[in-house]
Formats: sequence, structure tokens, C-alpha cells
Amino acid sequence: MIHQLVYYSRNTVAGGDRAMLTNMREILSASQRNNSRDGITGFLIFDKTWFVQILEGERAKVTETYARIACDPRHSAATIINLRDVHGRLFPNWTMGGAMRTPEVQEVYLQHGFGGPLEPARLKSEQVINLALDLQAYEVSRRQGQKLAS
Ligand code: FAD
Repeated sequence: MIHQLVYYSRNTVAGGDRAMLTNMREILSASQRNNSRDGITGFLIFDKTWFVQILEGERAKVTETYARIACDPRHSAATIINLRDVHGRLFPNWTMGGAMRTPEVQEVYLQHGFGGPLEPARLKSEQVINLALDLQAYEVSRRQGQKLAS
């Protein structure tokens, strides 16, 4: 069985878009390094206000990773939406994929009924997972398009 944890937190990264992107690169790079060591996969959705993340892996590793993440000063008030055992991974090839909410991906949000700001306290884990899977698919096709163009 795979353990799956979905949480949200308030983004406290200061500064404009550039600072945000620099911080996110650092977070994703540390995540990919640690998660590949620990067998953790998942997806991180974020905008200027919120983070919503899915972590999946062995139970002890997921708990340990979440405990480390929850203490990070770059966000606050981490709140678990759902914690459960599942039969397989949903993001097997992503040690941690991430998607910032930009106008480019707004269409994907609209398809999931998110026209306005995210209200994570009202989100169900299935909504988060379905949105993350479509953001992942969008990212995969964007990267394939870039490869074809080069
Ligand atoms: P290093 O990256 O070497 O960092 C050393 C210490 O400095 C850590 O305590 C780190 O928290 C702190 N630190 C580093 N850069 C900054 C900074 N710019 N501002 C403040 N403190 C800083 N980590 C994972 O392993 N997996 C994940 O999936 C994951 N997801 C995350 C999601 C979010 C929303 C956030 C905010 C962080 C996430 N992290 C994740 C990062 C995690 O919180 C730890 O920072 C990281 O795991 C520590 O990695 P490290 O032990 O290699 O330390």
C-alpha cells in the first residue's frame, strides 16, 4: 500500500513574481533531491497565497517528509486535507512536479470549476488530485511541444 497525504498551507514567500519563482525553484530542487532518496512522489500546486501538495510513498517516509515541510518558514498553517492508504501512486514519475497558477494554465483551473481564488479550506482531496493530474498532463504536453520545436 502507498500512503497519500494532501495538505494546504499559506504561502509566506515575500516579494514579487521573481522572488516567488526563485524560491519555488529552490523548494522544487530540494524536494526532488530528497524525494528521490526517500521514494516520495507527488505534486505541488501553488499561487501567491496558497500551496496545495500531494505526497505519496511509504507511510514513515511521507510522515517524516511532511513533518519537515510543516516547519518550513516559507509557508504557515499547514493543514492536512486527507491522509489515506491507496493501492498505487498517481504521480509515479514525479519526485515532485509543481505548477504555479499562471494565466497559461487558467483554462485547466476553469475546467475544474476554479474561476476565482483557491479556497483550500473548502477543497476535497479528490478535487485537488484531479486538478493536479490535469496540470501534470498539461505540463507533460508543454514539455513534449518544446522538445518537438527544438
Ligand atoms: P536544505 O535544502 O539544504 O536546507 C537547509 C535548511 O534551510 C532547511 O531547514 C530548510 O528548510 C532551510 N531553508 C533552505 N532554503 C530556505 C529559504 N530560502 N528560506 C528559509 N529557509 C530555507 N522538501 C522535501 O524534501 N520534499 C517535498 O516534497 C517538499 N515540499 C515542500 C513544499 C513546500 C510548500 C515548501 C514550503 C517546502 C517543501 N519542501 C520539501 C522543503 C522542505 O520544507 C525543506 O526545506 C527541505 O526538505 C530541506 O531539505 P534539506 O534537508 O536538503 O535542507
